[in-house]
Amino acid sequence: MMTYLGKIGELTLKGSNIHTFEKLLLKNTKEYLKDTGAKVSLNAGRLYIDCEEKDSEQVEFTLRHLIGITGWAQTKTSEKTIEDIQKTVLETAKEAVQKGAKSFKIEAKRGDKKFPLNSYEIACQGASLVYDSGLMEVNVHNPDVIIYVEVRERCFIYSVAEKSCRGLPVGCSNKGLLLLSGGLDSPVAGYRMMRRGMKIECCYFHSYPYTSIEAQQKVEELARTLSAYGIQTYLNIIPFTDVQMKIKEKAPEEWSTLMLRVCMMKAANMLGFRVHADCIVTGESLGQVASQTLENMNVTEHFAEYPLLRPLVGMDKEEIMADAHFIGTYDTSILPYEDCCVLFSPRHPILRGRIEDAEKIFASLEADELIKTAFENRQIKKFVCGKEVILKEEV
Ligand code: ATP
Ligand code: MG
Repeated sequence: MMTYLGKIGELTLKGSNIHTFEKLLLKNTKEYLKDTGAKVSLNAGRLYIDCEEKDSEQVEFTLRHLIGITGWAQTKTSEKTIEDIQKTVLETAKEAVQKGAKSFKIEAKRGDKKFPLNSYEIACQGASLVYDSGLMEVNVHNPDVIIYVEVRERCFIYSVAEKSCRGLPVGCSNKGLLLLSGGLDSPVAGYRMMRRGMKIECCYFHSYPYTSIEAQQKVEELARTLSAYGIQTYLNIIPFTDVQMKIKEKAPEEWSTLMLRVCMMKAANMLGFRVHADCIVTGESLGQVASQTLENMNVTEHFAEYPLLRPLVGMDKEEIMADAHFIGTYDTSILPYEDCCVLFSPRHPILRGRIEDAEKIFASLEADELIKTAFENRQIKKFVCGKEVILKEEV
């Protein structure tokens, strides 16, 4: 048997409704582990998973992706006696020495107040076999390794704590429709909203053959990766070539990118209604490109019938890239298949579009029917916990 422990973060700040959040965290954890025999429980700010070795890979995948915990570790367990704690601390110390640690300290927590020693005494006495063995020296200020001892309904002893995604469990805050392109930004935007507890459904506009099949496959891969955090997500793939051609034909060249965003918003409104979304999410960041000046973002927002959330609006590229590395979308996002064709990109895009002009230009396109047709011809893919689930064709 192996035991893992996850530390619960922000949830502990919740008041009397904490149980609702805890229940959701448990439900989400079980969803990842439904094909395993792992046992999941939650107690006093800790998530515990007991599993057989064959399921450990899936358990670690879960703990790396589960939103709502601040950190996790594989942990040893011991009897609730100081002698057994000392032995288990020694075992943990030996493993740390093998990995190169030369100094240590113990951080002890007594969750079970009936245990006869207090936290300080557990820390001092728990280390005694390690002192005697001369394996490592104590360094309370800057140790190579911290050995944690937690005395709760069982004793947990572990050393390396991995970082997790933090945030609130997915499913506690509404549903967002994420406009997902193949770039770096929008997957991170989706992840950021998932961390606020939001369920995410994705939407990608493609202009085949002007954008390639590879560009679409890249977005599918991004949606799959996002589903590892969001438990479940759908990707709606909307064929937008005819709409793009219409924009090229009728809109002033400098407006073409902004008009494309407007038409995307119009389609997103339809999809949002169909999938019961509560808001639309994009990866825009103020000033990053011409279409993301405040004026142009206002134009796009004007056409949205849902609150438009832009979680990256105040982030710089380095912060966004750090997130992309952390969630594992970076390598896919930088693949060279563009989600928009140079044929449709204006040489001098408008920088400060006005809403009145946008309305007139959009009306002149007479694109409502085309947008509706594109929406109706969408293709849908489903991803659960990092895997694609093949949907049956509707008949
Ligand atoms: P990203 O890195 O997410 O592609 P970007 O910096 O390239 O963003 P834009 O291309 O201006 O910025 O797009 C702004 C936002 O509009 C994107 O973050 C995304 O939410 C949405 N978007 C752009 N193109 C598409 C598309 N083809 N399909 C779906 N959404 C898109
Ligand atoms: Mg882009």
